[in-house]
Amino acid sequence: MELYSGYISRLIGELAVLPGIGNKSAQRLAFHIINMPPAKVESLAKAMTEARSNIKYCSECFTLTDNDTCPVCADQGRDHTQIMVVENTRDMSAYEKTGKYKGVYHVLHGAINPGLGIGPNDIKLPQLLKRLEATDAKEVIIATNSSIEGETTAMYISKLIKPAGIKVTRIASGVPVGGELENIDEVTLSRALDARVEL
Ligand code: ZN
Repeated sequence: MELYSGYISRLIGELAVLPGIGNKSAQRLAFHIINMPPAKVESLAKAMTEARSNIKYCSECFTLTDNDTCPVCADQGRDHTQIMVVENTRDMSAYEKTGKYKGVYHVLHGAINPGLGIGPNDIKLPQLLKRLEATDAKEVIIATNSSIEGETTAMYISKLIKPAGIKVTRIASGVPVGGELENIDEVTLSRALDARVEL
């Protein structure tokens, strides 16, 4: 005998595949949703489908944005010769929150992970190289996570772009090993940036 209605089971199943949501949380959310006013549920569903279909990559830094270029790249007050390389849009937003960084970004959307078959061409690395060829970048700050994948990616990028005479730096180890940038407080992030070391 099915414990729940087919509709509720389906909703729980859809929610349970989201990161960080186990079966228990999925049940809690599902029951919360079916008790919400229908207009709220509609608005939630619409926000999800519209975000999915309208968000695109910034043509310069590849962060997720609504327009052709993101607000950071479009800002002429930022230092476009300093490019910080991050793994994802959440990491970029973590650095933006510090309010200390005045350069621009490049979002890789992942890190090199041979175990999972993710190579340099599976992330936005070729796009970074193309961008560096086309612009007069003076410094590339590598701010990938301090996980094995993040370090592998940092080393790989450094080897590729140093011969071009561009200064390559790595954010300092104030960021704990294996730490996800987005979970780190703004003071620690600012310090890691200030204390970056040349590779
Ligand atoms: Zn951008």
